[in-house]
Amino acid sequence: MTLALEMPQAVHPALVSRVEPDSAAHRAGVQIGDELLRVNGNAITDILAYRRELEVGVATLELRRAGGEHFFFDVEWEEPGLEFSEVLFDGIKLCANKCEFCYVHQMPRGFRKSLYVMDDDYRLSFLYGSFVTLTNLAEEDFQRILNENLSPLYVSIHSTDQALRADMMKWWRLKVKDEGSTQIQDALQRLEPIDLYTQLVLLPNRNDGEHLEGSLEYLSSLPNVLSVACVPLGLTEHRRNLPELRPYTPQEAKAVLSIVHRWQREMLLKRGTRFIFASDEFYILAGEPLPSEEAYEGFPMLENGVGMVRDFLGSGFPRLPASIAPTRVLIGTGSLFAPILQRALEPLHAVQGLSLEIRALDNKSFGSVTSVAGLLTGRCFLEGVRAGEADVLLVSPSTLRYGTELMLDEISLSDLRLQLKMDVRSGGKTLTDLIAVILESASVTAVPQFGVSAHSVKDRA
Ligand code: SF4
Repeated sequence: MTLALEMPQAVHPALVSRVEPDSAAHRAGVQIGDELLRVNGNAITDILAYRRELEVGVATLELRRAGGEHFFFDVEWEEPGLEFSEVLFDGIKLCANKCEFCYVHQMPRGFRKSLYVMDDDYRLSFLYGSFVTLTNLAEEDFQRILNENLSPLYVSIHSTDQALRADMMKWWRLKVKDEGSTQIQDALQRLEPIDLYTQLVLLPNRNDGEHLEGSLEYLSSLPNVLSVACVPLGLTEHRRNLPELRPYTPQEAKAVLSIVHRWQREMLLKRGTRFIFASDEFYILAGEPLPSEEAYEGFPMLENGVGMVRDFLGSGFPRLPASIAPTRVLIGTGSLFAPILQRALEPLHAVQGLSLEIRALDNKSFGSVTSVAGLLTGRCFLEGVRAGEADVLLVSPSTLRYGTELMLDEISLSDLRLQLKMDVRSGGKTLTDLIAVILESASVTAVPQFGVSAHSVKDRA
């Protein structure tokens, strides 16, 4: 006789952050701060597993009150009415790589902890579109992706040449759970039923040129690969004990674009989609005009910097007033975007009363080599703007943590208002929004403010 010993399942308590009024959970007396332990007797690792358990229609939820008391309630074809503080109950899956171009490795010290987390979690890829490398997947992860149809996923490829990819990413053998997951072509083929958005982080003279051609050849042969985004490596001045890397020159950026454009023409004929897209940075570096809105095919890779500028510029330009109350508006942005903004806002210089300056700020936190607006910190504004030199300072919304007024270094817009003695606002996500904010600034600053705005006064109160 053999005894089957069943290992107890590890439980990952999920903290309840909201209980829907009049829901099943509310009727069962669930409170904020309670923890969900199991559904139908199964430990739950994340929000996707939670939803999957509920899909069977009838479910028993086991919770724990602070202090240890366990209690249960049932739902039958009903939404329980629970929200949780996290979507991953068993923690984030970390990457198994040591990519030579990794941004986390070159982050200056002193930022909030979450910016140093090297996540590589396919669940976040499915839920939020973050890129994963697949090198940390175990067999059960592949199975789960396929069984639960976690599609689409966003995958960092860099190169489909196995030796080159391994050399660029240098995964830690001990952290790799399934050697097969590091074989990029095999891994992509295993994910054949899953739609994939892919990206290639390009390094000059490393994985571009003929390697880029090879990667495109392979990726375009897989029907489930929906598109490829080419983005240049990002560098900061904090690369200690890391391989020496340099940014793209304008000539090299042009060469990348020439490959991208040729492939776009071919793929349009073959598949009816351009398939490969270059990030804005390549166009700006090369000094080439940005593609039309139509050429971005709905902007599926906007978060990856592909089409952000075109999306921002939009197609129309609002009617401008002939004059406004005297107002000095300063826009602080990254050196990459400043000339584009300068040209786009040119017509505003004709508005009487408006004094408008677009200033390219040096990145004091990451170093001058970092030229994108989204990585400007509060320190860059404090050191790049003189107190009281304008009535209003506008910052790009991309510098703010989502849903907050906090910059990467935890300096808030209120801190800037107080120290710079001027109104400080988020500038809007499109050119039309930005112009509206600029013109609106005039009506707010038309009354004497003594250097601080109504916003600042309210914030201080
Ligand atoms: S996958 Fe590479 S780039 Fe991403 S966090 Fe890991 S080491 Fe950094």
